[in-house]
Amino acid sequence: MRKILFASSEVHPLIKTGGLADVSGSLPLALHKHGQDIRIIIPAYRQCLEALEDINCVATIKLDGVYEPVEILQSTLPNSDVPLWLVHSPQHYDRQGGPYCKEEGGDWDDNAARFALFSRAIAALALNQAGLNWQPEVLHCNDWQTGLAVAFVSEYANRPKTVFTIHNLAYQGLYSKDVFDVLDIPNHFWHSNGLEFYDQLSFIKGGLIYADHITTVSPTYADEICTYEFGYGLEGLLSYRAGQGRLSGILNGIDEQEWDPAIDDNIAKNFSIKNLRNKRQNKIAIQEYFHLPVKEDVLVIGLISRLVSQKGIDLSLEVIDRLLESELAIQFVCLGSGEEEYEHNLRILRASFPDKVAIHIGYDEALAHQIEAGADVFLMPSRFEPCGLNQMYSLQYGTLPIVRSTGGLEDTVVDATEENRKNETANGFKFGPASSEALENTLYRVIDLFQHPRIWRKMMITAMKHDFSWENSAKQYDALYEKIN
Ligand code: ADP
Repeated sequence: MRKILFASSEVHPLIKTGGLADVSGSLPLALHKHGQDIRIIIPAYRQCLEALEDINCVATIKLDGVYEPVEILQSTLPNSDVPLWLVHSPQHYDRQGGPYCKEEGGDWDDNAARFALFSRAIAALALNQAGLNWQPEVLHCNDWQTGLAVAFVSEYANRPKTVFTIHNLAYQGLYSKDVFDVLDIPNHFWHSNGLEFYDQLSFIKGGLIYADHITTVSPTYADEICTYEFGYGLEGLLSYRAGQGRLSGILNGIDEQEWDPAIDDNIAKNFSIKNLRNKRQNKIAIQEYFHLPVKEDVLVIGLISRLVSQKGIDLSLEVIDRLLESELAIQFVCLGSGEEEYEHNLRILRASFPDKVAIHIGYDEALAHQIEAGADVFLMPSRFEPCGLNQMYSLQYGTLPIVRSTGGLEDTVVDATEENRKNETANGFKFGPASSEALENTLYRVIDLFQHPRIWRKMMITAMKHDFSWENSAKQYDALYEKIN
């Protein structure tokens, strides 16, 4: 049994903005099932304090650079017996709004202070300085919000081994030198082989420089971030770490309790490979829910996403608009929220084609399940995609994904070429360039193949057969912890 401290700024089902929360809610559980003594540490956001029933204060600690003492609360991850520690500093975390952003939008002004404090608390627990009589052998940190913790523990001889996982390199936690000074971070960290990044403080560099091993969430993304196109100026450092054998990609799994069409109680009718025809009830349900004409032979294209440029939303809207103009038999169902321009353009699209386009602007977990179950295909033409969960949910629900060949999309979707269809590996549609032409051509291929129910059905079965359980990923993390120990 190995002692592991798993640090994250979000964890499903307590607080979630994206895939990081799904991973943080699932991977520790899978490792716990493998017999590891794993504990999770997160900030004590208001949402967590409200959702958790059993919370006890187990320690009060004084952290460097933080005036007030901070409490460590203990609970368990809901529906599990995985211990959960919450860093309780009310003026930093107990407030109305998201984990990173205000309710009305825009980052919290004190995010640097909030996540520096979180990182200091992680480091204190990782070094067994909080009087909890438990020291991890591995500290596993995730994304920039926990990057400084890796740097802080690096100074201690009795430190645990450290793993840092990049869920999305686009978010780095960059702040001015003034912020570095105000946070009271020891001066010797301020150099280009430390936390400095072109005269700015980089939280993520704490993880990239000081971790014993860096992982990211798919093998292809691990290669991509070493290139100019995807590296955000960190490609040199990442290539160097890859050359040392200290950077690798492990594909995320999905939570099969939550995302299994055979037992999903959010959807109109459960289905599986054995009773695939039941999927059509879900198509009818989604058409009825959105007041679209109920037609079985129309191709329903689903999209669920943060509405940001990363996800290729502009490409999707442009191409869907063109296809609708040309009166093809399609319906477009979109659930998402994000940048105002995209929300606005979606509303215009809906107004132009009210009987073919349905939108729901907002975040709705149950509706996400219903769209996954009801759509025929799922649109995900991301410009970059570290792993991506939605294409895996789609595969699980026999909803063939249409993706760009990047990151985790490349690693999970097999294009419907003639050859792949023949050897029964095809499970979706994939294209290369991030252009509307390439997406449009792919959609014509999709519409064409949709006219061949037997081929389509075969692809659905191939998609649904694939094993995306956490079991597989957890084994790889286990092996990694073993290797660096
Ligand atoms: P990212 O983490 O970049 O947003 P992923 O595909 O890895 O993308 O994970 C997105 C997660 O968030 C999925 O669980 C997806 O279902 C969910 N999601 C995104 N937007 C919405 C929304 N508007 N409503 C419900 N779920 C959403």
